[in-house]
Amino acid sequence: MTIKKTYPKILLLIFSSSVFFIFLYTALFYYTTQVEQQVYSDSKYHFQNEVNKLFDLDSKPIRVAINNDTNWDEFVDFFKTKDSVWYTGTIGNELEIYNADYLGAYDKDGNFVIRASSKKIKAKDIIPKQAITNFKRGGLSKFFIQLPQGIVEVIGASVHHSDDPLKVRTKPYGYFFVARLLDTNFINELGLLTNSEIVFSQEVKETEIGKHKIFASIDLADCQGKTITRLLFSRKFDVYFDHTINILYVIILAFIINLVINLMMTRKWLYFPLELMTRVLETGNKKAIKELKSISGEFSHIGNLFEENSNQKIELIKAKIKAEEGDRLKASFLANLSHEIRTPMNAINGFTDLLINTKLDENEKLEYLKVIDKSGRNLVSIIDDLIEMSKIDSNQIKPNYTTLDLESCISELFETIRITIPKTKNIDFKLIETKNPVAYNIITDEVKLKQVLVNLVNNAIKFTEEGHVAFGYEVDDENEKIVFKIKDTGLGIDEDNHKHIFDRFKRVESDVSIKVGGLGLGLAISKAYVEMMGGTITLESKVEKGSVFSFSIPLQYDMVQKIIVQPINSKRTIKGEEDGTILIAEDDNLNFLLFQKIMQLKNYNIIRAVNGLEAVEICHNNPSIDLVLMDIKMPIMNGFEALEKIKAIRPELIIIAQTAYSSNEDEEKIYKAGFYGYITKPIKRERLFEIIDDVFQNKNKS
Ligand code: ADP
Repeated sequence: MTIKKTYPKILLLIFSSSVFFIFLYTALFYYTTQVEQQVYSDSKYHFQNEVNKLFDLDSKPIRVAINNDTNWDEFVDFFKTKDSVWYTGTIGNELEIYNADYLGAYDKDGNFVIRASSKKIKAKDIIPKQAITNFKRGGLSKFFIQLPQGIVEVIGASVHHSDDPLKVRTKPYGYFFVARLLDTNFINELGLLTNSEIVFSQEVKETEIGKHKIFASIDLADCQGKTITRLLFSRKFDVYFDHTINILYVIILAFIINLVINLMMTRKWLYFPLELMTRVLETGNKKAIKELKSISGEFSHIGNLFEENSNQKIELIKAKIKAEEGDRLKASFLANLSHEIRTPMNAINGFTDLLINTKLDENEKLEYLKVIDKSGRNLVSIIDDLIEMSKIDSNQIKPNYTTLDLESCISELFETIRITIPKTKNIDFKLIETKNPVAYNIITDEVKLKQVLVNLVNNAIKFTEEGHVAFGYEVDDENEKIVFKIKDTGLGIDEDNHKHIFDRFKRVESDVSIKVGGLGLGLAISKAYVEMMGGTITLESKVEKGSVFSFSIPLQYDMVQKIIVQPINSKRTIKGEEDGTILIAEDDNLNFLLFQKIMQLKNYNIIRAVNGLEAVEICHNNPSIDLVLMDIKMPIMNGFEALEKIKAIRPELIIIAQTAYSSNEDEEKIYKAGFYGYITKPIKRERLFEIIDDVFQNKNKS
């Protein structure tokens, strides 16, 4: 079996090294006890030898003396004479020489003859018959007997003539016994001699080993060789291993404590963080990341990395959701776009076909043409929105601040929008009265501000069938901003859609929004414009109750210019047309045809140039030209280059740009280049005449 996880691997390592060390300690322990036993038994053996020898040595003088006395002829004679005087005077005096307590003589038949004794042994005949029988043939014997006074050591010998020193040739004449009481004195002396403590004991207690003593014993046997008691010698046993073993115990204890600490710490420092890491990786648990961060060292760093990673993951998920939402929106946008373009195109194609191929009265024709016109304008507004959005996306749009009379602007807007409200709708459309109106002209981007207001008010009207639609503004002096509010009592927007309603291409999918159409760009463009001007836009809305869109822009007064209140719907008066020559630089035949047809309504002389170069040449060769309508995008030479060249030849000539581009930036570029003005395609008749009239009027004045 292979262990794959780190923590069990480390545990295995700790356990295997522990087992190894425990084995070593056990071996050391075993070896120590073995050595201890060996040393003990060696010491005991030597002690026993020593005791044996010393005990033997102790009785040696007696044996020597007894040998002498028992080969003494006079002693032989004594057994014949039984002369007690001689015995007492001669042998009896040797009590001290023998250092004995009893000197007894027995005849050859083992009968007691005489004895000389110390006070310690009172009895006369103490030697058992058996003892004499045992060595009747002669020689020396040693044995012990038990007397009431204590244990007595007896050494006996047969008595022979001096010519039989080995006591083998002749029969014994008698027997001589030397006895001494093994009393306390004897024991003490022997103790000193053997450097040990001596007691009479029947057995050796091996348990005494533990008490650091070694023991030796000498059996004291009677004449029949039967042990009657034993002398037990004990001596301090200095070589012992208690400390070594105690140290070993301490080492083992320390080792076990160390093992437990190791296990605990490994758990704390390794298992716990690893487990946290696993939890983080499996579940992304934030609490686990926090705990991991709180551990000092590498794991804290890993915790930080996990946190970063988790944040990035969240960001990625958000981005993914956003991207998916974007994809979804784009898909629905394309479907909408297709629908929005096809609907007017269908009307244009259908009614054009009817106009061409059917017989119609004048009223019908007019009706159809109005439809075609409206459809065309719708298409243009869709394209305008798309271009605007893409410019916002690529940061091409910058706010263009000018001075603005806000009151007039609001009134104008109100009037302009009011007349567009379909008669079918039962809407009470009004301005919200301002409590705190602006004191001066303000500085803002007029075009964008108007655009936002138009978008929001048009939406309010679009999504309200009956009820109220109102808009207005309030000055917030304290926060230095102007807050606009657009209120309606229409369809409303449900809570879920509030968050995303300002996203591009976002529409609330409902029957009404399908019916009224739209690409879902209006609010996105409005939001972008408001933010561009330094404000914010918000929404409060309830389904079926209505909506309130609020947006703010920074309040900045233009103190110099006083408010000039213009009358609502003030328009320049169109003066009568003047004859003149107009050069139309236009590469597209259909567009030129449209120009031609429009111009037929007036009395102007029209000349055409199909590119910029031709326009320059015509201007050069034809001084009667009063006005140039210059297309910007043309082959060979574009409108800007042609303008430059014409201005070089005829600086006073009025040149008006006609362009399909429509933004503020384009306008700025056109004026910067030196054009007198511009008209956007598709060309609106009224606007064209307004500009031309303006030019000729000014010309005539000068
Ligand atoms: P569109 O040009 O398609 O109308 P907008 O961005 O202006 O796009 O509006 C997006 C969506 O917001 C609309 O389709 C509509 O569902 C919802 N909406 C906007 N204004 C209102 C309003 N005043 N009342 C109800 N719904 C609205």
